[in-house]
Amino acid sequence: MTYALNRQLLDFISASPTAFHAVAQVSKHLESDGYTKLRSDAAWSLTAGGKYYLTANDSSLIAFRIPEGEVQGFLLSATHSDSPTFKLKPAPQRTAAPYAQLNTERYGGMLLHSWLDRPLSVAGRVLVEEDGRLVSRLIAPEDFSVVIPSVAVHLDRTANDGKKLNPAVDLLPLYAMAGGTAFTAQVAKWAETTEEQILGHDLYLVCQDGSMLWGADDAFISAPRLDDLACVYGCLQGFLSAEAGSAIDVLCVFDNEETGSESKQGAASTLLRDTLRRIAAALGLDETAYQQLLSRSFMVSADNAHALHPNHPELSDRDNCPVLNGGVVIKYNANQRYTTDAVSAALLRAVCRKADVPVQTFANRSDMVGGSTLGSIANTHLPVRTVDIGLPQLAMHSCYETMGSADLAQLIRLMAALYGKTVCTDESGAQYLA
Ligand code: ZN
Repeated sequence: MTYALNRQLLDFISASPTAFHAVAQVSKHLESDGYTKLRSDAAWSLTAGGKYYLTANDSSLIAFRIPEGEVQGFLLSATHSDSPTFKLKPAPQRTAAPYAQLNTERYGGMLLHSWLDRPLSVAGRVLVEEDGRLVSRLIAPEDFSVVIPSVAVHLDRTANDGKKLNPAVDLLPLYAMAGGTAFTAQVAKWAETTEEQILGHDLYLVCQDGSMLWGADDAFISAPRLDDLACVYGCLQGFLSAEAGSAIDVLCVFDNEETGSESKQGAASTLLRDTLRRIAAALGLDETAYQQLLSRSFMVSADNAHALHPNHPELSDRDNCPVLNGGVVIKYNANQRYTTDAVSAALLRAVCRKADVPVQTFANRSDMVGGSTLGSIANTHLPVRTVDIGLPQLAMHSCYETMGSADLAQLIRLMAALYGKTVCTDESGAQYLA
């Protein structure tokens, strides 16, 4: 069961080399479960029991379903579709005779050294002009590789002394011999068009190393983009397997988390707020009724967490530190980089206890500044009770990351138990999810 589930995750990740592909994969799962795609430029007619989704920029996605009975609130999850990588520049080829390189810039905050000396490919979307129309084509060629070669230790005796890598010098992939096939010609071939018809592209480097289950008892899995595709997949499976309740269940997958979420399709945009408001309006609810729904809503922001590192336990707060295969992690930060507070943590813990889902906690060492994620950012537009959670992992933002093989199943179980529920408050002010 665990083996099969992890294989499904790894297949999902392989089929999702970029945010565009991840959204296409999630869409495929939703379509085969009967979800209907909505157009944002058309009026929505929503019915009780209806299942819907929409995409933004083809790189973010919001899916939702309407309960049969009276609607009490929203139960939301938020994850991200993007991962740190290198984006190809508008003119993607660079001549460095006798060689030709690809010209890239950083997307997000990756571990730079992890990109050296391993097979990389290219994937993304290409905008093709066809009969005066612009068609978006996803490409992900499997029979193409480039490599970013490191400098031999004999040529750089300081290579093992904490060398700083310069993205404009040290991290450009070797593509061809000068005068070889132009990269744009390759792209045209992959997009089944001509170079002249390509009017735009968003292309990224992709780690080609195969994902694997490994270690004694298959305790671990390693793959590119576990942050955050493991949570995308876990929330998706929980969403699809949950029983209907009184909540409008909402699955959000946002692009651009790795660059701060500030884009029209990111968690810092008004996309989610506008979508929820539009759902309420389509159900005939006025602004007051919408605000009442929000006050009974609950959101889970799911993004991976740093597990205790086997070589560097000193980098963790040992009393607030998750381990691989220890279950779902609740993330805390006093300065609201994570949005978890006593109320949202307690609401989640009560559900975990009932569903028998093990819970761990994460807080940074007090002398370290950690990352931030979707929850706090989304909350600035959508003031609902929110908890930041994640799956424990190692080597976050390496192009090849590692997590435990037992944890994904726990996230799915948690989300399946959570969906359908809204926050109930009794006359004394006591709260619970039901
Ligand atoms: Zn993340």
